[in-house]
Amino acid sequence: MTCDVKSQTREELEARFKDWGQPAYRASQLLDWLYVHRVTDWEMMTNLPKPLREQLRQNFTLHALELVRKQGEHDATQKFLWRLSDHSLIESVLIPANPALYGDASDRHTLCVSTQVGCAYGCKFCASGLDGWKRNLSADEIVEQVLAVERWHRDESPESSERGASEREGCSVAKNADALTLPRSHAPTLPAPPLQHIPLRLINNLVIMGMGEPLANYDPLLKALRILNASWGGGIGARKITVSTSGLAPRVRKLAEEPLQFRLAISLHGATDETRNKIMPVNRRYPLKELVAACEYYQKKKGRMITLEYILIAGVNDQIKEIKPLASLAQRLHAKVNLIPYNHVEGLPWERPTEQAQQDFLTALEKQKVAATLRREKGHDIDAACGQLRLKTERALSSTA
Ligand code: SF4
Repeated sequence: MTCDVKSQTREELEARFKDWGQPAYRASQLLDWLYVHRVTDWEMMTNLPKPLREQLRQNFTLHALELVRKQGEHDATQKFLWRLSDHSLIESVLIPANPALYGDASDRHTLCVSTQVGCAYGCKFCASGLDGWKRNLSADEIVEQVLAVERWHRDESPESSERGASEREGCSVAKNADALTLPRSHAPTLPAPPLQHIPLRLINNLVIMGMGEPLANYDPLLKALRILNASWGGGIGARKITVSTSGLAPRVRKLAEEPLQFRLAISLHGATDETRNKIMPVNRRYPLKELVAACEYYQKKKGRMITLEYILIAGVNDQIKEIKPLASLAQRLHAKVNLIPYNHVEGLPWERPTEQAQQDFLTALEKQKVAATLRREKGHDIDAACGQLRLKTERALSSTA
C-alpha cells in the first residue's frame, strides 16, 4: 500500500532519494515544500524536476484534510471537523494564547489534535467514545492536522490573496525556494525571498488530547511527533508538546524511555478508584496505584512536571470530599491540576457544575497548596466536548442518507 509522504522522516526520504540516484538536497527541497510552504499538490514543487515529481507521485500519496465544518470565532476557541481520505471524520481544536493552560506566556496558539477515529475506551462522559472505535490515525493524518490548520490560517490572513496568487503562478516562492534549501555550494544567486512570501507558523503548542486514546496508537503517534518536532518538519519544541492519556500505565512507562522531552498530562477526572471506576472503564484495568507508579517513573526519568486534567461533572466528582485525595495525589506527583467544567454531550445525563461550585472546588484545592487552574472559556457554545461535532455531523449525515 502506498504511504503518504508526510509519514516519512528526513532520513527515510534521503534513503529513498539515494536509491533513486537523486542528490541529497532534493530531500531538503521536498521537505520545504511540505513543511514551509505546506503545498498540497506535487505540481507546485516547481524546483523539483518533472520526472522526480512523477516518481514521487507514483510512490507516495499527498493527502490534504478536507474541511467539512468550522465552528468558533477568530481569537476564540475554534473547532475544525476534517474528512479523511476514507471519509471518516475527525476533529482538531485551535485554542488562542492562554498562558494558564499548557505553555508559557509566549505561546501563540495551541492545537489539540486527534489520534484515532472514535475511541475504544468508553469514558462515560465523552462523545468521542459513544459510537466506539473505528481505526487508528496514521502518522501523516496526525501531522496533517497541524498543516491543514496552518494552511487555513494562511489563507484567512489579510495578505493571503496576494500570496495565494503568487504561489499559484509559481512565482517568488517557487523561484526562490532553492535559495532556502540548497547547501551553499548549490545555491543559485537568487535574492532571499521577501518575508511576506514565507508562510508564518501559527501553532507553537500542541496538545494530544483530541479524539482517541493517544497512547493506544503509540507508534504512529510517536512518529508524527518526531516529524512535528523536527527542525525540518513542524518545528514545534518537544517541551511544547503535551501527550495525554486516560491511564495506560504501561505506555506511560514506555513514553518515559523516549529521548524527546514531551510533557505528560493524565486525564484523571477522579482521584479515587471508586470515582474513576464509575466514569472511566480503563481504571479497572490500570487502577490508580499502577497509574501513579507509572507517573512517578515518568517523572524520575524525565524530571518533568505532570498535569492532571480534571473535568468537573456535577454530582459525580465535584464534591468537596474529592478534594483531599486529589490534593494528596497532586502533591505526591508534584503535579498541576487543570479543572475543566464539563461540556454537555447530547444524549448523556451529565451536567456541568454551577460557576459557584466550580469556584469553590478551585478554592478548596488551592487551600491545600495545589497549583490549579480553572478553564473559564465558553467552549460549550461550540460543541466543545471532545468528539461532539463529529458525532452530531455523522448522525445528521446518516439520517439524511
Ligand atoms: S475521554 Fe479520551 S480515552 Fe476516554 S473515551 Fe473520550 S477520547 Fe477515549
